[in-house]
Amino acid sequence: MNAAALSAYQPSDSLLAKLRRRTARWHVARPLDAAPRRTRICFTFDDFPKSAADTGADILDSVGAKGCYYACTGMVGTENHLGEMFDEGDLKTLTASGHEIGAHTQTHLDCSQAPADIVLADIDANLRNLVAMGHDEIVRQFAWPYGETRRDLKPRLATRFDAVRGIHPGVNGRRADLMQLFALELNADESTIERAAHMIEQSTGAPAWIFVFTHDVRQKHSKWGTTPAHFRRLVNLAHDTGAILQTPSSALDAIMQAERA
Ligand SMILES: [Zn+2]
Repeated sequence: MNAAALSAYQPSDSLLAKLRRRTARWHVARPLDAAPRRTRICFTFDDFPKSAADTGADILDSVGAKGCYYACTGMVGTENHLGEMFDEGDLKTLTASGHEIGAHTQTHLDCSQAPADIVLADIDANLRNLVAMGHDEIVRQFAWPYGETRRDLKPRLATRFDAVRGIHPGVNGRRADLMQLFALELNADESTIERAAHMIEQSTGAPAWIFVFTHDVRQKHSKWGTTPAHFRRLVNLAHDTGAILQTPSSALDAIMQAERA
C-alpha cells in the first residue's frame, strides 16, 4: 500500500465492524499476572516519522527517558501526511541510545478486516524487513495499526510478542490484556494532552503501567501528531511525578520480576 493510500484509509464504520471492535477489547487474550507497584510510563510512537526519532527522542533523552517506536517497514524512506518516515539509520541510532523498536505490520494493515493468515504473514514480513535492515534485536513489542484487532486474532500474537498495545484510552493494572494494552493518545485535539496530563498526575496515588502514543512531533504536525512543546510538557510532567520512564519491554520485565505479588 503506498503512502497516499495509507493516508486515505479509514477503518470500516459498518455496524458489524463497530460491534466487533467494541467486543474484541473485552476478551482478554493474555492477562498481566502482576500489579505495577510503581508507575511506569512508556512514551511510544507509531509508524514512525523521523520527527519522532529525532525531536521525540531528544525530548525523552533530556530526562533520561527511553521510548518505543512501532515500525511499519512499508513506510521506510517514504514521505506522507506524517512527514518524512524512518529509515535504517534511525533504527540504529534509536537502538544505540537505548530506545526500543517494536513492530506494526508491513503494510499498516487493518487487522480486524483481514483473514488471520494474511495478518500473520504481514506481521512476519515486517519482522523480516527489520532484520534485513540490520535490526538484530528480538522484537518483543507490537502495536495494532489503527488499534484494530479481533477476538480470534489476539491470542495468536501471544507466541510472537510479549506485549501488544492498542489505542483504547486508559491505564494498565493487574489483569490488563497484554495483547491489547490501553494507551493515551496525543493528537491535534488539545483535550488529548490534558487527558494524558491528568492520568499521569492521577497515577501518583495509584501505580499503573501507562502508555502514551503519538506520531509526528513537529510544530506543524498532522492531526495524529503533536508539538514539541506539548510532548516536552508531558515528558517533564511524567518525570517530575517520579514515575519510571522506560521502554515497554523494560517495564514488563520489571513488573513481572520485581512486582509479582
Ligand atoms: Zn499506525
